[in-house]
Amino acid sequence: MENIKHILWSGGWDSTFMLCKMAREQNISIQPHYMILKDSKITFIELKRMYIIRKLLKEKTDIKAEILKPIVHKAQSYNEIDEKILKSFSNLIRQYRLGAQYLYFTYIANKFPGIALGQENYYRKPGKMNIIIREKGNIQFSEDGVGYLPKNIDSDIYCILGNYTFPIFQLSEMQMLEMVKEWGYEDIMKYIWFCYEPLDNQPCGICYTCCGKMSANMFNLFPDKALLRYMIYKELEQKDKKLSKDFVDYFLHNKITKNKNIFKNLLKQEFSREIIIQRIKKCLDSNIK
Ligand SMILES: [Zn+2]
Repeated sequence: MENIKHILWSGGWDSTFMLCKMAREQNISIQPHYMILKDSKITFIELKRMYIIRKLLKEKTDIKAEILKPIVHKAQSYNEIDEKILKSFSNLIRQYRLGAQYLYFTYIANKFPGIALGQENYYRKPGKMNIIIREKGNIQFSEDGVGYLPKNIDSDIYCILGNYTFPIFQLSEMQMLEMVKEWGYEDIMKYIWFCYEPLDNQPCGICYTCCGKMSANMFNLFPDKALLRYMIYKELEQKDKKLSKDFVDYFLHNKITKNKNIFKNLLKQEFSREIIIQRIKKCLDSNIK
C-alpha cells in the first residue's frame, strides 16, 4: 500500500470517527499525527486511549486501511513559527477568536498538505470554526464528499486553514452517532477522550468540551456522576446564571465559595441514570426555544 493519507488525530470524538470512517472505506495507509499542546495529564490520557483504539481497530474485520503508529509532534515556541503564519493567525483571532491549537496545527498542515481535519457539521448551533469554514472559507466538496477551501478566499484564512481537507464536514455529531451504532463501533468510540478538566481520571461533565458532548446527546460517554453534575449545572443556570458559574468554578477551579455546602448537598442526590438524562434533555430543549 503506497497511498498514504495523513490525518490529525487527537483521540477525541471527531478525529477518531474520521479515522474509523476512512479506515473502513479506503484500502490505504493512514498516518495519524498528534500534537502535544501542553504537558498535562490530558496528553497522557489521550495517548493511552489512542493506543487502545488503534489496537481495537486492528481487530475489526471490516477495516480496509492500515493504520500507522501516530507521529507525535510538540507545539513549537512562538519564535520558531513563520512570520507570515503568525501574522495571519493574529488577524484571524482578532476577528473570530479561533482556538490557539490551529496556530500549531498549521506547522503540520504545511508539511503534509491535504492532511485531514476532523471538523464536523453543527447540530444545535454552529461553532466558530464551522462559521469560518462555511461562510468565509467558502468550503467546496469533491465528488466523494471531502471538503476543501478554494484558493480565492481571504488570504489569512487560506494561510491557516487552506492546507486541510475536511472529510466529515457534512456530518453532525448526531449523524456520526447513528453511523457508529450502525457499524457496531460503540466499543471503540467509548475510549475517545474529550474532557479538559478530568475529575478522578473521568470526564467532568461541566467543562467546555463536556458541555458540547452533552448538548449533542452523547450521554453514553459519561459516568453517572458527570451526568448528575451537568444536570445540576443546567438546572442552576435556568434559575441563576451566576450561581451556575460558581458551581463550575468550585468543582473545576477549586474556587472558594459560600455556596460550597449547597453544591455538595446537590451532588449527594440520588437519581437513576434515566431520570438524570430526562432532566438534562428538558434543560437542553428549553435552551433552544
Ligand atoms: Zn470535562
